[in-house]
Amino acid sequence: MENRQNKMRLVFSAIPENEAFARATVAAFCVSLSPTIEELNDVKMAVSEAVTNCIVHAYKEQEGEVFIDTEICDNVLHIKVSDTGAGIASVSEAIKPFFTTCPEGERSGMGFTVMETFMDELDVVSNVGVGTQVAMKKKFYGR
Ligand code: ATP
Ligand code: MG
Repeated sequence: MENRQNKMRLVFSAIPENEAFARATVAAFCVSLSPTIEELNDVKMAVSEAVTNCIVHAYKEQEGEVFIDTEICDNVLHIKVSDTGAGIASVSEAIKPFFTTCPEGERSGMGFTVMETFMDELDVVSNVGVGTQVAMKKKFYGR
């Protein structure tokens, strides 16, 4: 399919039910790239981890909003998942495999590692008390 520029923005409540909604919506947005099942699954995994982090860490299950900005440009998907929640004290520590601030729960500290593994680029900007933006990029080769 001819490659055009395309944009999409989502704003939704930070509740666990919306994680599946966000994942499916971003996957649907990628259809114009004629993605392989594997490419779609990679994006779904990354979106799922980023959105879950907003819900459990940024807002700590309290009320809040999650923002997703996506853009397709020259077969590259750009996604930014943002929140206006707690923020991260040290991004360089937080993105390390197995780093978690919730070791007593079911968290394994692998969310950022998953995003890094399944996407081509990951860039995290965060300010304590202000919020976090997780920007990711992935090139699609398609079917
Ligand atoms: P897992 O994702 O494996 O369930 P986790 O969420 O703890 O565990 P990561 O997703 O890698 O692991 O995140 C590492 C840490 O970074 C978190 O424990 C949390 O302290 C912090 N963090 C991640 N995203 C956010 C966010 N949006 N707002 C505030 N803190 C965050
Ligand atoms: Mg996580």
